[in-house]
Amino acid sequence: MFKFKSIAIDGPAGAGKSTVAKHLANKLNYLYVDTGALYRAIGLYMIRNNISYTDEIETSENLKNINLELKHIDNVQHVFLNGDDVTSKIRSPEVSLAASSVSAFKLVRNFLIDLQRNIAKNNNVIMDGRDIATVVLPNADIKIFLTASARIRAIRRYKDLTKINVNKTFDEVYRDMVTRDSNDSSRDIAPLKQAEDALLIDSSDMGFDETVDYIYNIIKERLV
Ligand code: C5P
Repeated sequence: MFKFKSIAIDGPAGAGKSTVAKHLANKLNYLYVDTGALYRAIGLYMIRNNISYTDEIETSENLKNINLELKHIDNVQHVFLNGDDVTSKIRSPEVSLAASSVSAFKLVRNFLIDLQRNIAKNNNVIMDGRDIATVVLPNADIKIFLTASARIRAIRRYKDLTKINVNKTFDEVYRDMVTRDSNDSSRDIAPLKQAEDALLIDSSDMGFDETVDYIYNIIKERLV
């Protein structure tokens, strides 16, 4: 039976996963799936409805009111939260922290797992996140763990936020990054960690093109 191919790219915030994965998906004609956007949309729902996103019970009880859809329009992933396209609204620093908080809750993770697996069942995908190789797609054809030092990741994130006019100092961005790293790595369920059979790539000293080419060559060797 024909099986769709899947490539998992996990790693901490700001490692460049999404930019790299998007380029690779274009090169390979695969569907790019940014799973962080789903956690962000849940975080945004809690903020919009004044629900404490640090409260597991309250957050979990409200999942029944949430309908999430991912649609690819002109090759760009859009996230719909109860019918509303929230693609750009989920990028604020506040939503980042809310996403990191809700992602530690078991029912939130269960809520999203089928959605992610169903997409991979029906498409060739490059999926990026924290637990793609360890939990969501443990049989992915290729598993990459992409990382970089916290300082380098904060510099990259700071530049991105400046572009969308978010007013934060570098120190604030760096602190948020370290907080998220610690939340993501220390949670009990699906913590951020490298799968045993994943390839570790540290992009601290690599340019963007170099990282894309490096991973593309690995994919070509193993898959195409
Ligand atoms: O990747 P991004 O930074 O957009 O993800 C936002 C948050 O969602 C992360 O800090 C992480 O806590 C959570 N996340 C996760 N598992 C994934 C993707 C994202 O826990 N597969």
